[in-house]
Amino acid sequence: MSATQDTKALTLDEIRALATKALLAHGCDEANAAAIADTVTRAERDGSASHGLFRLPGYIKSMQSGKVNGKAQPVIEQTLPAVISVDGAHGYAPHTLAESLPVLAQAASQTGIAVMRLYNSFHFAALWPEVEYLADQNLVGIACTCFKPSVAPAGTSTAFFGTNPLAFAFPRPGSTPVVFDMATSRLAKGDVMIAARDGHDLPDGTGLGPDGQPTNDPNEVLKGVLLPFGGYKGSAISLMVELLSSALTGDQFSYEAAKQDNNDGGPARGGELIIALSPDLIVGDGWRDHSSDFFKEMEKLEGLRLPGARRHRNRGDEGTRDVNAALITTITDLANTPSV
Ligand code: NDP
Repeated sequence: MSATQDTKALTLDEIRALATKALLAHGCDEANAAAIADTVTRAERDGSASHGLFRLPGYIKSMQSGKVNGKAQPVIEQTLPAVISVDGAHGYAPHTLAESLPVLAQAASQTGIAVMRLYNSFHFAALWPEVEYLADQNLVGIACTCFKPSVAPAGTSTAFFGTNPLAFAFPRPGSTPVVFDMATSRLAKGDVMIAARDGHDLPDGTGLGPDGQPTNDPNEVLKGVLLPFGGYKGSAISLMVELLSSALTGDQFSYEAAKQDNNDGGPARGGELIIALSPDLIVGDGWRDHSSDFFKEMEKLEGLRLPGARRHRNRGDEGTRDVNAALITTITDLANTPSV
Protein backbone atom coordinates (compact mmCIF):
# COMPACT_ATOMS: atom_id res chain seq x y z
CA MET A 1 0.00 0.00 0.00
CA SER A 2 1.21 3.49 -0.65
CA ALA A 3 0.20 6.80 0.94
CA THR A 4 -2.36 8.60 -1.23
CA GLN A 5 -3.52 11.28 1.16
CA ASP A 6 -3.86 14.76 -0.26
CA THR A 7 -4.49 17.47 2.31
CA LYS A 8 -5.50 21.12 2.41
CA ALA A 9 -4.75 23.60 5.20
CA LEU A 10 -7.77 25.06 7.02
CA THR A 11 -7.84 27.48 9.95
CA LEU A 12 -9.79 26.41 13.02
CA ASP A 13 -12.38 29.10 12.23
CA GLU A 14 -12.76 27.68 8.71
CA ILE A 15 -13.21 24.16 10.13
CA ARG A 16 -15.89 25.39 12.55
CA ALA A 17 -17.69 27.42 9.87
CA LEU A 18 -17.67 24.54 7.36
CA ALA A 19 -18.98 22.06 9.94
CA THR A 20 -21.68 24.46 11.16
CA LYS A 21 -22.91 25.25 7.64
CA ALA A 22 -23.11 21.55 6.68
CA LEU A 23 -24.95 20.62 9.89
CA LEU A 24 -27.47 23.45 9.56
CA ALA A 25 -28.09 22.43 5.94
CA HIS A 26 -29.10 18.91 6.95
CA GLY A 27 -31.29 19.14 10.01
CA CYS A 28 -29.50 20.65 13.01
CA ASP A 29 -30.82 23.65 14.88
CA GLU A 30 -28.34 26.36 15.91
CA ALA A 31 -27.62 24.87 19.36
CA ASN A 32 -26.92 21.35 18.09
CA ALA A 33 -24.91 22.58 15.09
CA ALA A 34 -22.78 24.80 17.33
CA ALA A 35 -22.13 22.00 19.84
CA ILE A 36 -21.20 19.39 17.19
CA ALA A 37 -19.06 21.89 15.25
CA ASP A 38 -17.26 22.75 18.49
CA THR A 39 -16.56 19.06 19.20
CA VAL A 40 -15.29 18.52 15.65
CA THR A 41 -13.15 21.68 15.69
CA ARG A 42 -11.59 20.80 19.05
CA ALA A 43 -10.71 17.32 17.73
CA GLU A 44 -8.98 18.85 14.67
CA ARG A 45 -7.25 21.41 16.93
CA ASP A 46 -5.88 18.64 19.15
CA GLY A 47 -4.71 16.51 16.21
CA SER A 48 -7.41 13.82 16.53
CA ALA A 49 -8.39 13.49 12.87
CA SER A 50 -10.56 10.42 13.45
CA HIS A 51 -13.04 12.53 15.47
CA GLY A 52 -12.79 15.75 13.49
CA LEU A 53 -14.35 16.62 10.12
CA PHE A 54 -14.01 12.94 9.24
CA ARG A 55 -17.19 12.34 11.30
CA LEU A 56 -19.30 15.05 9.64
CA PRO A 57 -20.77 12.95 6.77
CA GLY A 58 -21.82 10.31 9.35
CA TYR A 59 -23.52 12.93 11.56
CA ILE A 60 -25.44 14.13 8.50
CA LYS A 61 -26.38 10.64 7.25
CA SER A 62 -28.12 9.81 10.53
CA MET A 63 -30.18 13.00 10.38
CA GLN A 64 -31.09 12.32 6.75
CA SER A 65 -32.20 8.77 7.56
CA GLY A 66 -34.40 10.12 10.35
CA LYS A 67 -32.55 8.16 13.04
CA VAL A 68 -31.23 11.20 14.90
CA ASN A 69 -33.08 14.42 15.71
CA GLY A 70 -30.77 17.32 14.92
CA LYS A 71 -33.00 19.66 16.92
CA ALA A 72 -33.15 17.54 20.10
CA GLN A 73 -33.37 19.27 23.45
CA PRO A 74 -32.26 17.05 26.37
CA VAL A 75 -34.39 16.50 29.46
CA ILE A 76 -32.23 16.66 32.62
CA GLU A 77 -33.46 15.33 35.96
CA GLN A 78 -31.59 15.16 39.26
CA THR A 79 -33.28 12.02 40.57
CA LEU A 80 -31.10 11.86 43.73
CA PRO A 81 -28.57 14.37 45.13
CA ALA A 82 -25.78 12.36 43.44
CA VAL A 83 -27.62 10.97 40.40
CA ILE A 84 -28.35 12.93 37.22
CA SER A 85 -30.50 11.26 34.60
CA VAL A 86 -30.40 12.74 31.10
CA ASP A 87 -32.75 11.82 28.26
CA GLY A 88 -30.90 12.84 25.10
CA ALA A 89 -34.24 12.95 23.20
CA HIS A 90 -32.74 11.05 20.26
CA GLY A 91 -30.19 13.75 19.57
CA TYR A 92 -26.43 13.88 19.30
CA ALA A 93 -24.39 13.92 22.50
CA PRO A 94 -22.50 17.25 22.20
CA HIS A 95 -25.46 19.58 22.84
CA THR A 96 -26.84 17.25 25.53
CA LEU A 97 -23.45 17.24 27.26
CA ALA A 98 -23.08 21.01 27.03
CA GLU A 99 -26.41 21.34 28.86
CA SER A 100 -25.96 18.55 31.41
CA LEU A 101 -22.28 18.58 32.46
CA PRO A 102 -22.67 21.74 34.58
CA VAL A 103 -25.47 19.97 36.50
CA LEU A 104 -23.18 16.97 37.14
CA ALA A 105 -20.30 19.22 38.22
CA GLN A 106 -22.56 21.12 40.60
CA ALA A 107 -23.86 17.87 42.13
CA ALA A 108 -20.35 16.45 42.65
CA SER A 109 -19.19 19.74 44.18
CA GLN A 110 -21.97 19.41 46.77
CA THR A 111 -21.95 15.66 47.46
CA GLY A 112 -18.30 14.65 46.76
CA ILE A 113 -19.29 12.17 44.05
CA ALA A 114 -22.02 12.21 41.43
CA VAL A 115 -22.92 10.06 38.46
CA MET A 116 -24.72 11.01 35.28
CA ARG A 117 -26.46 8.53 33.05
CA LEU A 118 -27.10 9.67 29.51
CA TYR A 119 -29.57 7.65 27.41
CA ASN A 120 -31.52 8.02 24.15
CA SER A 121 -28.46 9.69 22.73
CA PHE A 122 -26.04 9.18 19.84
CA HIS A 123 -22.34 9.48 20.64
CA PHE A 124 -20.01 9.84 17.64
CA ALA A 125 -17.14 11.69 19.28
CA ALA A 126 -14.20 11.39 21.64
CA LEU A 127 -14.85 11.37 25.40
CA TRP A 128 -12.05 13.66 26.57
CA PRO A 129 -14.21 16.84 26.27
CA GLU A 130 -16.52 15.64 29.03
CA VAL A 131 -13.79 14.53 31.44
CA GLU A 132 -11.62 17.59 30.75
CA TYR A 133 -14.63 19.80 31.47
CA LEU A 134 -14.86 18.17 34.91
CA ALA A 135 -11.10 18.46 35.55
CA ASP A 136 -11.33 22.16 34.71
CA GLN A 137 -13.75 22.42 37.66
CA ASN A 138 -11.22 20.67 39.95
CA LEU A 139 -13.13 17.38 39.71
CA VAL A 140 -11.91 13.95 38.68
CA GLY A 141 -13.85 12.68 35.66
CA ILE A 142 -14.47 9.19 34.35
CA ALA A 143 -16.61 8.50 31.27
CA CYS A 144 -17.42 5.53 29.09
CA THR A 145 -19.74 4.52 26.29
CA CYS A 146 -20.24 1.52 24.03
CA PHE A 147 -21.06 1.15 20.33
CA LYS A 148 -22.02 -1.61 17.89
CA PRO A 149 -20.08 -4.89 18.03
CA SER A 150 -16.75 -4.70 16.25
CA VAL A 151 -14.39 -6.22 18.84
CA ALA A 152 -14.03 -9.93 19.61
CA PRO A 153 -13.79 -10.68 23.37
CA ALA A 154 -10.44 -12.32 24.21
CA GLY A 155 -10.30 -15.91 23.04
CA THR A 156 -13.06 -15.49 20.42
CA SER A 157 -13.16 -14.31 16.82
CA THR A 158 -16.73 -12.96 16.89
CA ALA A 159 -17.52 -9.27 17.27
CA PHE A 160 -19.49 -8.69 20.48
CA PHE A 161 -18.06 -5.60 22.22
CA GLY A 162 -17.99 -2.12 20.76
CA THR A 163 -14.67 -0.29 20.63
CA ASN A 164 -15.91 0.91 24.03
CA PRO A 165 -13.86 3.98 24.96
CA LEU A 166 -12.94 4.86 28.53
CA ALA A 167 -11.74 8.33 29.53
CA PHE A 168 -10.26 9.66 32.76
CA ALA A 169 -9.12 13.14 33.76
CA PHE A 170 -7.40 14.25 36.94
CA PRO A 171 -7.06 17.98 37.67
CA ARG A 172 -3.63 19.51 38.13
CA PRO A 173 -4.17 23.03 39.46
CA GLY A 174 -1.92 25.44 37.56
CA SER A 175 -1.34 22.94 34.75
CA THR A 176 -3.26 20.99 32.15
CA PRO A 177 -5.07 17.95 33.60
CA VAL A 178 -3.81 14.43 33.07
CA VAL A 179 -6.24 12.89 30.61
CA PHE A 180 -6.46 9.56 28.95
CA ASP A 181 -9.19 8.75 26.49
CA MET A 182 -8.83 5.44 24.77
CA ALA A 183 -10.75 2.87 22.83
CA THR A 184 -10.48 -0.51 24.55
CA SER A 185 -9.77 -2.04 21.15
CA ARG A 186 -6.15 -2.14 19.99
CA LEU A 187 -7.04 0.71 17.58
CA ALA A 188 -10.17 2.87 17.33
CA LYS A 189 -12.33 1.91 14.34
CA GLY A 190 -12.00 5.44 12.90
CA ASP A 191 -8.22 4.96 12.75
CA VAL A 192 -8.69 1.65 10.91
CA MET A 193 -10.98 3.43 8.42
CA ILE A 194 -8.42 6.22 7.98
CA ALA A 195 -5.64 3.62 7.43
CA ALA A 196 -7.83 1.97 4.75
CA ARG A 197 -8.48 5.34 3.11
CA ASP A 198 -4.81 6.36 3.19
CA GLY A 199 -3.41 2.95 2.28
CA HIS A 200 -1.50 2.30 5.53
CA ASP A 201 -0.86 -1.07 7.17
CA LEU A 202 -2.12 -1.64 10.74
CA PRO A 203 0.06 -2.51 13.74
CA ASP A 204 0.23 -6.18 14.74
CA GLY A 205 -2.61 -7.32 16.98
CA THR A 206 -5.18 -4.83 15.61
CA GLY A 207 -7.59 -7.40 14.28
CA LEU A 208 -8.58 -10.54 12.43
CA GLY A 209 -9.74 -10.86 8.83
CA PRO A 210 -13.06 -12.52 7.90
CA ASP A 211 -11.20 -15.86 7.95
CA GLY A 212 -10.45 -15.36 11.68
CA GLN A 213 -6.71 -14.97 11.00
CA PRO A 214 -4.55 -12.02 12.19
CA THR A 215 -3.93 -9.43 9.45
CA ASN A 216 -2.35 -5.99 9.09
CA ASP A 217 -4.61 -5.04 6.16
CA PRO A 218 -7.23 -2.45 7.32
CA ASN A 219 -9.69 -3.50 4.58
CA GLU A 220 -9.58 -7.10 5.84
CA VAL A 221 -10.00 -6.02 9.47
CA LEU A 222 -13.01 -3.88 8.49
CA LYS A 223 -14.56 -7.06 7.03
CA GLY A 224 -13.49 -9.08 10.07
CA VAL A 225 -13.09 -8.03 13.71
CA LEU A 226 -10.95 -5.77 15.88
CA LEU A 227 -9.21 -7.16 18.96
CA PRO A 228 -9.16 -5.69 22.48
CA PHE A 229 -5.90 -4.06 23.60
CA GLY A 230 -3.80 -6.15 25.95
CA GLY A 231 -5.52 -9.52 25.45
CA TYR A 232 -7.82 -10.68 28.24
CA LYS A 233 -7.05 -7.62 30.41
CA GLY A 234 -8.31 -5.14 27.83
CA SER A 235 -11.20 -7.48 27.17
CA ALA A 236 -12.19 -7.28 30.87
CA ILE A 237 -12.12 -3.48 30.75
CA SER A 238 -14.26 -3.52 27.61
CA LEU A 239 -16.72 -5.80 29.45
CA MET A 240 -16.83 -3.26 32.29
CA VAL A 241 -17.56 -0.46 29.81
CA GLU A 242 -20.47 -2.47 28.33
CA LEU A 243 -21.97 -2.92 31.82
CA LEU A 244 -21.43 0.66 33.01
CA SER A 245 -22.62 2.37 29.85
CA SER A 246 -25.59 0.08 29.16
CA ALA A 247 -26.78 -1.80 32.23
CA LEU A 248 -26.29 1.34 34.34
CA THR A 249 -27.80 3.81 31.89
CA GLY A 250 -30.74 1.71 30.76
CA ASP A 251 -29.67 2.07 27.13
CA GLN A 252 -28.51 -0.62 24.68
CA PHE A 253 -25.58 -3.00 24.98
CA SER A 254 -23.49 -3.10 21.79
CA TYR A 255 -25.13 -6.35 20.65
CA GLU A 256 -28.59 -4.83 21.14
CA ALA A 257 -27.59 -1.69 19.23
CA ALA A 258 -26.56 -3.86 16.27
CA LYS A 259 -30.04 -5.40 16.07
CA GLN A 260 -31.79 -2.06 16.23
CA ASP A 261 -29.49 0.25 14.23
CA ASN A 262 -30.28 1.13 10.59
CA ASN A 263 -26.57 1.10 9.57
CA ASP A 264 -26.82 4.48 7.85
CA GLY A 265 -23.15 5.28 8.46
CA GLY A 266 -23.72 7.29 11.64
CA PRO A 267 -23.57 6.13 15.26
CA ALA A 268 -25.97 3.71 16.93
CA ARG A 269 -28.09 4.83 19.89
CA GLY A 270 -26.32 4.16 23.17
CA GLY A 271 -25.76 5.22 26.74
CA GLU A 272 -22.88 7.06 28.37
CA LEU A 273 -22.01 6.97 32.05
CA ILE A 274 -20.02 9.85 33.55
CA ILE A 275 -18.72 9.91 37.12
CA ALA A 276 -17.43 13.05 38.82
CA LEU A 277 -15.47 13.06 42.09
CA SER A 278 -14.48 16.06 44.17
CA PRO A 279 -11.01 15.69 45.74
CA ASP A 280 -11.72 18.80 47.82
CA LEU A 281 -14.68 17.07 49.50
CA ILE A 282 -13.31 13.51 49.50
CA VAL A 283 -9.78 14.09 50.83
CA GLY A 284 -9.47 17.80 51.62
CA ASP A 285 -6.96 20.47 50.63
CA GLY A 286 -3.85 18.28 50.80
CA TRP A 287 -4.62 16.50 47.51
CA ARG A 288 -3.17 19.31 45.43
CA ASP A 289 0.34 19.18 46.92
CA HIS A 290 0.26 15.40 47.30
CA SER A 291 -0.59 14.73 43.66
CA SER A 292 1.67 17.55 42.47
CA ASP A 293 4.60 15.84 44.25
CA PHE A 294 3.61 12.58 42.56
CA PHE A 295 3.74 14.17 39.10
CA LYS A 296 7.06 15.91 39.87
CA GLU A 297 8.55 12.55 40.87
CA MET A 298 7.06 10.78 37.86
CA GLU A 299 8.26 13.43 35.43
CA LYS A 300 11.86 12.73 36.47
CA LEU A 301 11.58 9.39 34.65
CA GLU A 302 13.43 9.36 31.35
CA GLY A 303 11.21 8.53 28.38
CA LEU A 304 7.99 9.49 30.16
CA ARG A 305 5.13 10.96 28.15
CA LEU A 306 1.96 11.64 30.11
CA PRO A 307 -1.36 10.83 28.44
CA GLY A 308 -2.98 14.01 27.17
CA ALA A 309 0.40 15.72 26.65
CA ARG A 310 0.27 15.39 22.84
CA ARG A 311 -3.26 16.79 22.76
CA HIS A 312 -2.38 19.74 24.98
CA ARG A 313 0.78 20.49 23.01
CA ASN A 314 -1.16 20.50 19.71
CA ARG A 315 -3.74 22.74 21.30
CA GLY A 316 -1.17 25.49 21.77
CA ASP A 317 -0.70 25.76 17.99
CA GLU A 318 -3.18 28.32 16.68
CA GLY A 319 -2.20 27.77 13.05
CA THR A 320 -3.90 25.82 10.28
CA ARG A 321 -4.67 22.11 10.31
CA ASP A 322 -4.09 19.77 7.36
CA VAL A 323 -7.38 18.12 6.42
CA ASN A 324 -7.95 15.46 3.77
CA ALA A 325 -8.81 17.37 0.57
CA ALA A 326 -11.41 14.87 -0.69
CA LEU A 327 -13.16 15.11 2.69
CA ILE A 328 -13.28 18.91 2.45
CA THR A 329 -14.87 18.61 -1.01
CA THR A 330 -17.46 16.14 0.31
CA ILE A 331 -18.40 18.39 3.25
CA THR A 332 -18.42 21.55 1.11
CA ASP A 333 -20.82 19.82 -1.31
CA LEU A 334 -23.02 18.81 1.63
CA ALA A 335 -22.96 22.38 2.96
CA ASN A 336 -23.98 23.74 -0.45
CA THR A 337 -26.82 21.26 -1.09
CA PRO A 338 -29.25 21.53 1.87
CA SER A 339 -31.68 18.67 2.41
CA VAL A 340 -33.97 20.60 4.78
P1 NDP B 1 -4.94 6.60 21.34
O1 NDP B 1 -4.49 5.19 21.37
O2 NDP B 1 -4.43 7.48 20.27
O3 NDP B 1 -4.63 7.30 22.73
C1 NDP B 1 -5.19 6.80 23.92
C2 NDP B 1 -4.68 7.60 25.08
O4 NDP B 1 -3.33 7.26 25.30
C3 NDP B 1 -4.73 9.09 24.87
O5 NDP B 1 -5.14 9.71 26.03
C4 NDP B 1 -3.29 9.44 24.50
O6 NDP B 1 -2.91 10.75 24.89
C5 NDP B 1 -2.52 8.42 25.26
N1 NDP B 1 -1.26 8.06 24.60
C6 NDP B 1 -1.08 7.77 23.30
N2 NDP B 1 0.21 7.46 23.08
C7 NDP B 1 0.84 7.56 24.26
C8 NDP B 1 2.18 7.37 24.68
N3 NDP B 1 3.13 7.01 23.82
N4 NDP B 1 2.48 7.57 25.98
C9 NDP B 1 1.53 7.93 26.86
N5 NDP B 1 0.24 8.13 26.53
C10 NDP B 1 -0.11 7.94 25.25
O7 NDP B 1 -6.56 6.67 21.31
P2 NDP B 1 -7.59 5.59 20.72
O8 NDP B 1 -7.26 5.38 19.31
O9 NDP B 1 -7.68 4.41 21.62
O10 NDP B 1 -8.98 6.37 20.83
C11 NDP B 1 -9.19 7.49 20.00
C12 NDP B 1 -10.47 8.17 20.34
O11 NDP B 1 -11.58 7.41 19.87
C13 NDP B 1 -10.77 8.41 21.82
O12 NDP B 1 -10.92 9.81 21.93
C14 NDP B 1 -12.08 7.69 22.08
O13 NDP B 1 -12.95 8.38 22.97
C15 NDP B 1 -12.69 7.67 20.70
N6 NDP B 1 -13.69 6.61 20.54
C16 NDP B 1 -15.03 6.94 20.56
C17 NDP B 1 -16.00 5.97 20.42
C18 NDP B 1 -17.45 6.31 20.51
O14 NDP B 1 -18.28 5.43 20.41
N7 NDP B 1 -17.85 7.55 20.71
C19 NDP B 1 -15.65 4.58 20.16
C20 NDP B 1 -14.22 4.33 20.24
C21 NDP B 1 -13.28 5.32 20.38
P3 NDP B 1 -2.84 11.96 23.80
O15 NDP B 1 -4.27 12.34 23.55
O16 NDP B 1 -2.03 13.02 24.44
O17 NDP B 1 -2.19 11.38 22.58
